[in-house]
Amino acid sequence: MIFENTKEFAQGLDSQDKLSKYRDEFIFPKVNGEKVIYFTGNSLGLQPKRTKAYIDEVMNDWAELAVEGHFYADKPWWDYQERFAEPLSKIVGALPSEVTVMNTLTVNLHLLMVSFYRPTKSRYKIICEEKAFPSDQYMFQSQVHFHGFKPEEAIVEIKRRDGEHNIRLEDILAKIEEVGEELALILIGGVNYYTGQVFDMKTITAAGHQVGAKVGWDLAHAAGNIKLELHDWNVDFAAWCSYKYMNSGPGNASGCFVHERHHNDSELPRFAGWWGHNKERRFKMEPVFDPVHGADGWQISNLPVLSLAPYLASVEMFDEIGMDALIEKRDKITSYLEFILHEIDKEVDSSFEIITPTNQSERGCQLSVLLHGEGRSLFDYLMKSGVITDWREPNVIRLAPVPLYCSYEDMYNFGQILKTGILK
Ligand SMILES: *Cc1c(COP(=O)(O)O)cnc(C)c1O
Repeated sequence: MIFENTKEFAQGLDSQDKLSKYRDEFIFPKVNGEKVIYFTGNSLGLQPKRTKAYIDEVMNDWAELAVEGHFYADKPWWDYQERFAEPLSKIVGALPSEVTVMNTLTVNLHLLMVSFYRPTKSRYKIICEEKAFPSDQYMFQSQVHFHGFKPEEAIVEIKRRDGEHNIRLEDILAKIEEVGEELALILIGGVNYYTGQVFDMKTITAAGHQVGAKVGWDLAHAAGNIKLELHDWNVDFAAWCSYKYMNSGPGNASGCFVHERHHNDSELPRFAGWWGHNKERRFKMEPVFDPVHGADGWQISNLPVLSLAPYLASVEMFDEIGMDALIEKRDKITSYLEFILHEIDKEVDSSFEIITPTNQSERGCQLSVLLHGEGRSLFDYLMKSGVITDWREPNVIRLAPVPLYCSYEDMYNFGQILKTGILK
């Protein structure tokens, strides 16, 4: 499609957009009396209007039923997480029994590493990406220490080549081959939080299995953003947060995936709690743990229902729309933003560079822009002008044109504000 950098053209795209009605389902902060242009849905998604009713429902059940709400609420609390299985499994490409929701992301990755990072004297290394999200780096270091190894020996980072912004698949595969029999685990962010690069999870997972390693994915920037086929790709485990693309609210509950082939493995260690125990017998208070079949068997504590309620609202909205429709608009609006950035760059004479891959199969809904020159002051100008983006050292702003609530007109307006900010 040939794009144009005009308001009329952008409005034309909005009028053909099948998802445009969802924009009104979200609450936008305002700056100078106008809805902001919100580019940080990759960090904290906007609040859907329908979410409040899901929370109110739990509050009302609690008021009217108190403890009886566990069993007699319209959506009983004791197995509230089971409502996620169907819709969430479609979002991540899993069987319903392979997903569950609990805790928060880093906590879940630690818990899953209890099962899937089981180093021995000879096979103890973890492959991750260079400059992984800090929480993941601390997690790797502490896990490796916990098992009595040294991070500098056990953690193998895949590097970018000099002068390149993204990691090459061939370099990942070569490293897996090289570490070979010493490799216990590969755990990478499926979508890199900084550059927006999407990794070829299918190929990397197969390569890891080829050398006898387990393969997990941190899907913080992938869930609700890109097409996932976790079951078919044979991924061992994965976890994601729900407050980024999935709009469930600050710090909210995480989702987990455990592949079906591990469900019957009684040798697999795990940290257990009563919510992972045999559902029918949970309240018999038996002394010996008998895990629920499937990912629910990794549950530990009784459910934080008040925080699951907004996540359920979100998952049901995603289910209504379907990932395919979302991805179709995502590609179009991200390409339109890319086009606008290039147009403005020409007008102001090259002062920034997009470091996210140009290839659509290697990116989702994010463009990371490396600013040359007055980065920080430009960022401040954007924020003051109602463009909410985020700043990452040394000089990068990340723009996520989330297809659920961003409009093409937002992209056009952003371009005009950006131009003014640069020429100021
Ligand atoms: C956002 C993000 C996290 C956040 O972890 P929490 O435990 O939810 O605070 C972890 N890893 C990656 C890759 C992220 O992008």
